[in-house]
Amino acid sequence: MEELLSQIITPEVRMAVTVIVVFIAILYVISIIWVIRDSYLRGSNPVIWGIISLVPFLGAFVYAMMRPPMLLSDKDEQALDFALKQRELMKYGECARCGYPVEREYLMCPRCGTQLKNECKKCGHALNPEWTVCPFCCTSAGRRRSSQSSKK
Ligand SMILES: [Zn+2]
Ligand SMILES: [Zn+2]
Repeated sequence: MEELLSQIITPEVRMAVTVIVVFIAILYVISIIWVIRDSYLRGSNPVIWGIISLVPFLGAFVYAMMRPPMLLSDKDEQALDFALKQRELMKYGECARCGYPVEREYLMCPRCGTQLKNECKKCGHALNPEWTVCPFCCTSAGRRRSSQSSKK
């Protein structure tokens, strides 16, 4: 029996086994590093996941199944994108009082009711308080600005 074993386990086989073991050990270490780094990037707790990943391979596998689906930086980007898009939709500035995004044609802030623009007496278009003439129908905008300031 021992003779048979020594016949099977030649130095070459021993060498091959060592290489495989080292390879698996390296994979194991990489899997732990990956889990810690990835959980950190995804806003998860890297300490807890690092401990879980100490279970050889199973830990990293469990993490791969349960990790948060989005990277933190992606999340930030998405929030920024969303805010930008919202601003695009509600173009042309924001309410001076509450900062709510408002459109060019708004006469009043939909959130706090502050008067934003004057209304043309003739055609009803929204006019900037600075405008003296309505650019849509050429009617004089008159002194409607004073009514805004007296309201305040
Ligand atoms: Zn407002
Ligand atoms: Zn007009």
